[in-house]
Amino acid sequence: MDFNYTPEEKKFRKQVQIWLDANRPRGTRKRAPGTSMGDDQEWRRLVEWHRKLHGAGWVGLSWPKEYGGRGATLMEQIIFNQELGKRKLSPGCNVLGVMMAGPAIMHWGTEEQKHQHLQKILAGDEIWCEGLSEPGSGSDLASLQCRAVPDGDDFLVNGQKVWTTLAHRSHWIQLFVRTDSEASKHNGLSCLLVDMKSPGITVRPLRQITGESEFNEIFFEDVRVPKSNLLGPLNSGWQVLITTLMHERAGISELGSERLIDHLIELARKTQRNGEPATKDSYVRQQLAQFAIEVQARKLNGLRSLTKRLKGAPPGPEGSIGKLCTTELTKRMAKFAVELAGPHALVEGDSPFALDGGRWLTSILHAPSLTIAGGTSEVNRNIVGERILGLPK
Ligand SMILES: Cc1cc2nc3c(=O)[nH]c(=O)nc-3n(C[C@H](O)[C@H](O)[C@H](O)COP(=O)(O)OP(=O)(O)OC[C@H]3O[C@@H](n4cnc5c(N)ncnc54)[C@H](O)[C@@H]3O)c2cc1C
Repeated sequence: MDFNYTPEEKKFRKQVQIWLDANRPRGTRKRAPGTSMGDDQEWRRLVEWHRKLHGAGWVGLSWPKEYGGRGATLMEQIIFNQELGKRKLSPGCNVLGVMMAGPAIMHWGTEEQKHQHLQKILAGDEIWCEGLSEPGSGSDLASLQCRAVPDGDDFLVNGQKVWTTLAHRSHWIQLFVRTDSEASKHNGLSCLLVDMKSPGITVRPLRQITGESEFNEIFFEDVRVPKSNLLGPLNSGWQVLITTLMHERAGISELGSERLIDHLIELARKTQRNGEPATKDSYVRQQLAQFAIEVQARKLNGLRSLTKRLKGAPPGPEGSIGKLCTTELTKRMAKFAVELAGPHALVEGDSPFALDGGRWLTSILHAPSLTIAGGTSEVNRNIVGERILGLPK
């Protein structure tokens, strides 16, 4: 493994830095990054930022040129993500479209489906959401019950989805449905691309502990979906689902524990412990050092899977290691912020007693959700045990 960047990659990084510094949105953010898609004003800012990124060709950097991307290398995509992360900037408003639905359509879609959706996904003209979980099916997705029955040129869809991030903003949903009830549970699923404006769809936002509504429940009542919107072969939805989730886990594992350690160190510098700056306290120093070690170990492990992907392999089960370690570490770090900041961590937004504009409260409330979204920690431990370590089920 070579840790050095090539001269071309360094030049590319410089190019990214110059563009981001010249074009980044001005003004302060009160919320922690990635937690504000439920807020209307923040959403409009995200859409605007997305359009600016897209206009300059920074969205879907590594997507092939024929689908509207830049055909950049994976390394360039990662450099771009790193520079975004350093500036606490969002990749835009269509995270699930670019990270999951788009790659799934590229892999499984017909030429018509690719032509119809991919460019619009990158432009942010089609916002996408992911319809997997149901009230009775989360970790065990193969048991899902939302049903699609053939009816002429269409499927007729009936059932319910839940926890659907961004459904209230979305134009399309990548929907997983049961199309064969007789087959074994993994073999009776299919994936449909569904227009959210179709008659019979009701979206109800759910209120989260952060006070925002980023995810929803969706009800489908006799919703007509053209058969041409089937993604992948009939009853092969499980394979489509695996492709989609691998991209999601790889994406979540790239999210920011590196940034959080910097924020924690800043926080320790400005808080007091036993009458002295917290950074002088040996317990605090040990904790910060332990977090820094784990962040570094996680980064090196991430580089190992990156090497595999640079050799042309798709995201594999090792994405589960990254997802598990990053989200559990982020949760512990957010909890430690409460120890450092004390009751100040729990003060909201504009109060003079709030630290860092109240961002810690949102971080603390938001952090546990990432250990559930995209597969819980327990489920990812099972994947690591069974599929990577080869342990018995
Ligand atoms: C922020 C957020 C965003 C989300 N966005 C979406 C979205 O856009 N689209 C979507 O479809 N879903 C979404 N989800 C739902 C998410 O995928 C599910 O919550 C998750 O898969 C767990 O399913 P569940 O909630 O039904 O819990 P369950 O599956 O009922 O699990 C309950 C508990 O049992 C444990 N458990 C279950 N099975 C096992 C096992 N085999 N071994 C050990 N322990 C086990 C779990 O770890 C968990 O602790 C989102 C969730 C969150 C938190």
